[in-house]
Amino acid sequence: MCGLVCAAVAAVLTVAVTVDAAETWTEVRSPNFRVITNGNARQGREVAASFERLTAVLQQVAKISTRTDVPLTIIAIQHGKQLRTLIDSDREDLGGLFAAGPDANLVLVRLDFDRDLRYQIAWHEYMHVLVHQTIGAAPVWLNEGLAEMYSQARLDTDDVLLGMPADYHLAALQERSLLSLERLLAVDHGSPEYTEDNRATTFYAQSWALTHFLVLGDNGAHRPRLMALLEALDAGATPADATRRALGDVAAFDRQFRAYIGRFQFPALKARVPLSDAAKGAPARPLSPAEVLALKATVAAMVGDGATGTTLAAEAVAADRTLGEAWMAQARAARRAGDLDATERALAQAVSVGSSDPLAHFGWAELRMRAPDAPLAEVSAALERALALKPDLARALSLLGVVRAAQDGNTTRGVSLITQAITLEPGNARHYLMLAQLAANARDAASTDAALARADRVAQGPDEKRQVAAVRQQLRPTP
Ligand SMILES: [Zn+2]
Repeated sequence: MCGLVCAAVAAVLTVAVTVDAAETWTEVRSPNFRVITNGNARQGREVAASFERLTAVLQQVAKISTRTDVPLTIIAIQHGKQLRTLIDSDREDLGGLFAAGPDANLVLVRLDFDRDLRYQIAWHEYMHVLVHQTIGAAPVWLNEGLAEMYSQARLDTDDVLLGMPADYHLAALQERSLLSLERLLAVDHGSPEYTEDNRATTFYAQSWALTHFLVLGDNGAHRPRLMALLEALDAGATPADATRRALGDVAAFDRQFRAYIGRFQFPALKARVPLSDAAKGAPARPLSPAEVLALKATVAAMVGDGATGTTLAAEAVAADRTLGEAWMAQARAARRAGDLDATERALAQAVSVGSSDPLAHFGWAELRMRAPDAPLAEVSAALERALALKPDLARALSLLGVVRAAQDGNTTRGVSLITQAITLEPGNARHYLMLAQLAANARDAASTDAALARADRVAQGPDEKRQVAAVRQQLRPTP
């Protein structure tokens, strides 16, 4: 999903990062985002405002839910040279990066880029987060098409413009030989059309054009097909089957689509979404040295060199043992190293210093559940604490459903909690796995199988697929 950007970052990280005593980092908190910048508070608020604006447009125009379990932290740096101190990268030309983890999502924004370019990569990746939790394993062309479409939205005035073509997409559509529709629809995350830099240019341009055609083409005449596609996915069809069902006669559809590209007129949608001051006066404060170390440890653990992450996290903890975020950074570094016992210990420390991060409490509860004799009362108390901090934390709701049912045998109440989680995140496989676990405990084979099938359908990428397969083997072992 983060594709070439992250791959490029991972490849060049070798030298240890340092913390300069003179470095100043400022945190700005807006209603939905946390921006950490080495620029000034005004710049931080401007970045926060741009994300708040996108959120408002997504809610009002696209009717997409922007609630997430894992918050997005936006790191805004003043220029490319600072990539070295932050992520240990020689790549001063790196336009941005994105990393998703179980308790943090990071996105990088460069303040030295002009506004249009500055947010494109960040918004693109943020769209993937939202698509993932809403649709789950969306067809890759649709996932990238939606991300491209919204990342290029013009949101500076009360009248927003969606669907404006990017010059590089127009150039690719005009100059390159296009993929057949069959091939475009079949591309997955492992396909060369997606992974190879040169070929990806064509794939992204065509994905954008197909999404544009379905959403805005011919005055929205094709939107019912997109709706049918989303409904088929929701009903459990695989991306390939859902696409075929929704598009009908693929050859006829292909002719229409090619004619659309051939006309080379891509209308924009104008919608009125009044500007608001969501981030105006958002509180700003300087980070302490321990917080800066924790930030750098987190970045290293998530996108950089794991050993550097471990060292920096230990320094962060040594600098301030009462800082929940320092222990969270240590947990991330331990998880990166594959040491789940150490991850659990670090999360326990975050909990014991009274971390205000709901994912500290949830993460500890989840890892405690690995033990065959897990203390259910303690786990359920931790999940309650997580939910007190964030009442719509979907993953805490679904795990609590399993724990409660195991505690008192009340399956109905457990199912009701998991259903709340699924309503919040219909595209997240973990909730269906919880449902499968609950059904298996109640010896209901049919419901177990149905929930496992659903989990498999929405699971995205090899890691999630493997996780589903492992749970299936555990709950419904094949001889
Ligand atoms: Zn993408």
